[in-house]
Amino acid sequence: MLAMSGAQDIIVIGAGVVGMATALTLADRGHRVTVIDGAEGPGLGTSFANGAQLSYAYTDALASPGVLGELPRLALGRDPAFRLRLHLDPDFLRWGLAFLRNCAIDRFQRNTIAGLALAARARDALEELTQRHALDYAQAMPGKIHLYRSAAALSGAERMAALKARYGVRQEVLDPDATVAHEPALAPIRHDIAGALHTAGEAVGDPHLFCTEAAAALRRLGGTLRFGTRVARIVEDGATPAIILTTGERIGADRVVLAAATGSVALARSLGVRLPIQPVKGYSITAPIGAATPHASITDAANRVVFARLGDRVRIAGLADLGARDTTVDGKRLAALIASARAALPGAADYGRIEMRWAGLRPMTPNSLPITRAIAPGVIANCGHGALGWTWAAGSAREVADLIGGRT
Ligand SMILES: Cc1cc2nc3c(=O)[nH]c(=O)nc-3n(C[C@H](O)[C@H](O)[C@H](O)COP(=O)(O)OP(=O)(O)OC[C@H]3O[C@@H](n4cnc5c(N)ncnc54)[C@H](O)[C@@H]3O)c2cc1C
Repeated sequence: MLAMSGAQDIIVIGAGVVGMATALTLADRGHRVTVIDGAEGPGLGTSFANGAQLSYAYTDALASPGVLGELPRLALGRDPAFRLRLHLDPDFLRWGLAFLRNCAIDRFQRNTIAGLALAARARDALEELTQRHALDYAQAMPGKIHLYRSAAALSGAERMAALKARYGVRQEVLDPDATVAHEPALAPIRHDIAGALHTAGEAVGDPHLFCTEAAAALRRLGGTLRFGTRVARIVEDGATPAIILTTGERIGADRVVLAAATGSVALARSLGVRLPIQPVKGYSITAPIGAATPHASITDAANRVVFARLGDRVRIAGLADLGARDTTVDGKRLAALIASARAALPGAADYGRIEMRWAGLRPMTPNSLPITRAIAPGVIANCGHGALGWTWAAGSAREVADLIGGRT
């Protein structure tokens, strides 16, 4: 814990996994923290019903040589998991060009390894927050099985596993029989798989529950949470920043942390700063477990769908719609997700009793890595966590708290 003499007044904009992990980390270090969110409670944005995987080993950047090769097919809408709607606005085009640059093999590997390092820090940081505050968010460590349906895909995965092994990540390559031995619920699809990567240390947890629990812990530490409160802009107030709410109210602070995911772009622009973040829309369903729900969390590379068991429920997530800008649940896209999930693991869920249908916007940067740096005096960005915000939240929270505390 921090010596109280260094305590600062800090506003955190955004109460998703990133904002709540940051707020709690800062409060633990003795700062006076106020969280502001436009929604009516914590974790109601992209953190509400994501894939629930704490994917510490699978940090592969979205921009990759493989994606580059598939672009013509993707652009023509031939991949049911992917949609591309082009926009002519300069931010979108600039983002697209930067994304293409990051598809080069050296950048893909560098971005993936940087993501691994952040994930390792995040695992420790989340464990510390969880223990210290006795947070309960349906967390479990069932390991992850990444399924591959072709020999070519499996050997590509083996190459990535060999690269990650150099950074201390242990993943085991399994043939179909070994895959089923590890996870008997996969027996019905044994004939359909070329093999799998098994990562024992991968975890799952409910991100919305985490946000709720973190909010309660923050209140116990004396922190303030204001919901239903939208920030219109951030202004510089001499050496320190202030926020202006849509009601016109002005609140000053020693520091402002911008953890508003895709909402960060407009707020940064109020400071004259351009953040390269575009929404990539995805969908999830939550249903009671089925006749053959795996205990391990599952990623099916070919069907582009992920499964995570949360107690007696299973969360299934997927789809990537670049250029979509709202969170309405499109019936056709949801049907595409359910069809992929059924094709991948027919027994994983009670598909006839889906309890929640949801869509959210991944706040994606061109290199898939979050932005954690000062963007103006006293204003620190912590946003752009893309497809791995739940995994990375506690790690980037610690990075931002270190920045504020002057640690490196
Ligand atoms: C389908 C899908 C599956 C996913 N699966 C996984 C997974 O398995 N594992 C994983 O690690 N990640 C996953 N992700 C990614 C992860 O969900 C996100 O990276 C993460 O939730 C981002 O967290 P956040 O706190 O930055 O954003 P959010 O949770 O969106 O929080 C931002 C908050 O800022 C608030 N806000 C915005 N603008 C303003 C404003 N002007 N004033 C006040 N408040 C404002 C919003 O109301 C919101 O609550 C998935 C995402 C999707 C869409």
